[in-house]
Amino acid sequence: MKNIVELKTITCRGKRPGPKLLITGGVHGDEFEPMVAIRRLAKRLHKEDLTGTVTMVPVVNEEAFLLCSRTASDGLDLARTCPGNVNGSITERVAHQLSNLIQEADYYIDLHTGGTTMSIYPLAGYMLDVDLKVRDAQHNMARAFNLPLVWGTDPNLDGRSLSVARDAGIPAIYVEYHGAAVCDPSGVDAMVEGCLNTMNHLQMLTRPEPVPSVLYDVQETRSDSGFFQRSHLSPCDGYFETDRLIGNFINRGELLGTVVDPLGETRVDIPAETTGLINCLRTFPSVRKNDSLGYIVETGKNSNE
Ligand SMILES: [Zn+2]
Repeated sequence: MKNIVELKTITCRGKRPGPKLLITGGVHGDEFEPMVAIRRLAKRLHKEDLTGTVTMVPVVNEEAFLLCSRTASDGLDLARTCPGNVNGSITERVAHQLSNLIQEADYYIDLHTGGTTMSIYPLAGYMLDVDLKVRDAQHNMARAFNLPLVWGTDPNLDGRSLSVARDAGIPAIYVEYHGAAVCDPSGVDAMVEGCLNTMNHLQMLTRPEPVPSVLYDVQETRSDSGFFQRSHLSPCDGYFETDRLIGNFINRGELLGTVVDPLGETRVDIPAETTGLINCLRTFPSVRKNDSLGYIVETGKNSNE
């Protein structure tokens, strides 16, 4: 049997009993704002003010972080490997420990970014769970986090942290905020504030309601909605050029970008697959065939409105 992986956690136990909230970052090793935000959040929490318990994991996928990589040395995506295997590879063992923590929680927030290669419009997402009570709890948590996009998507995706929460009936949301291989201070601030806002909503602490920032509240029911890696796949290896920006609208068929060869002689246009808000766009120009180049959320508006 291989060694059990210990996840490094920070726990704040409130003076008053109440719900157990789990907050994780660094499920992917190249997503930095969540790691900083969770450490900062831990310093903002005081047991005198807190009802319930908050368990925080700033860097779930520590080996991936040390490798400066999305994934650990076995190449498995942790967010496709849950619930993992206690005797498996490094990512499978981390997934097992993470899944145990999720199953012990009453509520769960998983913080992400677009990592090294993508940038993502700030959003709080959740699975359109078949259990309406859980779905409503998730929707309300996502709205309370107070980022511009609230996004309900396909509940049938497996292997993710949220899949574990779904199977355990635990209300859970995930958050995305930019990425592109930097640590954006505005993302750190938004994640700290968002966690506090959601805790306020869960009556774990008391703070003034923020000025509402939700601009779009979208439920995409089609299968694979929310699956960035299955949208706008590059047809070939090359260099991805785009002048689009996340947060802007695009109409179906308009140019999302172009994949070109090293001399620029062969150019393959990538048309928008649908009409809506660009909420994810590749920022790392080097692409391999079948890498995702972007994602468009069907918000019901087009770029001319
Ligand atoms: Zn991630």
